[in-house]
Amino acid sequence: MSRPTRTIIDIQALRHNLQWAQSLAPHAKTMVMVKANAYGHGMVKVAHALKDLVPAYGVACIEEAKILRQSGIEQPILLLEGTFSADEVSIAAEQNFWLMVENQPQLQAILNADISKPVHVWLKVDTGMHRLGLQPEDVSAAFNTLSKSDNVADKMVIATHFASADDLSNDATSQQIDQFTQVLDDLDAAVAPLESLANSASVLGRPDSHRDWNRPGYMIYGASPFNHPQDNADQLKPVMTLESAVISVRQIAAGETVGYSGKWQAQRPSTIATVAIGYGDGYPRSAPNGTPVVVNGIECPLVGSVSMDMISVDVTDLDAQQAVVIGDPVELWGKQLPVNRVASLCNTLGYELLTRMPSRVPRIYC
Ligand SMILES: *Cc1c(COP(=O)(O)O)cnc(C)c1O
Repeated sequence: MSRPTRTIIDIQALRHNLQWAQSLAPHAKTMVMVKANAYGHGMVKVAHALKDLVPAYGVACIEEAKILRQSGIEQPILLLEGTFSADEVSIAAEQNFWLMVENQPQLQAILNADISKPVHVWLKVDTGMHRLGLQPEDVSAAFNTLSKSDNVADKMVIATHFASADDLSNDATSQQIDQFTQVLDDLDAAVAPLESLANSASVLGRPDSHRDWNRPGYMIYGASPFNHPQDNADQLKPVMTLESAVISVRQIAAGETVGYSGKWQAQRPSTIATVAIGYGDGYPRSAPNGTPVVVNGIECPLVGSVSMDMISVDVTDLDAQQAVVIGDPVELWGKQLPVNRVASLCNTLGYELLTRMPSRVPRIYC
């Protein structure tokens, strides 16, 4: 036997979610975001599990792209932040890594590179996120300069990223789409570029943003980018289930406290189950009293502070119906409990909880 703490990664659910994204945008190609270790799901395993369906992958940096190539992934891989130094351009050309160009030094590095194969360029425009990208008025000149260079392959892609796509009633997204359309109208292009805007939220909820390339991440892992029900998001299937087991059970009297600093006090005689998971396993230390924990298929409240390797759960009501014993299964999030519910109680996003899953927790693929 070994420690029961692990994540189960459901490959069928992963493939279902990708196919759902593709069916929502039948005229777009779907680039799958696998940055940050595929949002904590294991980048190499995820990429290989989807490779018969995926035309290209997106990562944050060349280090991630190299790992994918070395593992045998043959598709193009977009570096979402482009190059961090000029020497990355020739590696990108050799290995068919596509480059986002979002500033002038990156553009110059491509023009000046001594490469024998042209590199694929995505030109990023800042339409309102104000994080990365050329100013709209600078896109036309940059596009023309890159178009004339032998170092740049046809066709270029013009891309932007939404700041508030998770809020479908916010018209910031419409304004970003309008700005983007204006940039394209202002281009004087001999070879028309391709276009890319949509992340998960807009794949699900903004068909007017679907273009040549969509770029979903979070939804592929089966979680909703919205904090409210949404028909298309409701079809997603959670990919990661974080599970553990009860490792100790005790009865305590009313008035006793549980865990470090006595942060929770029993109001009645209580049955407390100790579960082998803690913040050392990616379970958030900020989870408050009452956060749901699924024990034997039933939601029970977390009590006391989250320790590095353990949590405590009040199973009094469950135990009254069916004795809770050592070895009983526990789910922290996944099939029975959406990660977003845990995240919102911790004032964070499911994105963060999934992505920061540490290596101590084994990933089991099935
Ligand atoms: C991460 C990322 C995405 C994917 O966003 P999700 O909300 O996970 O779908 C899309 N585009 C860019 C540029 C990104 O960095």
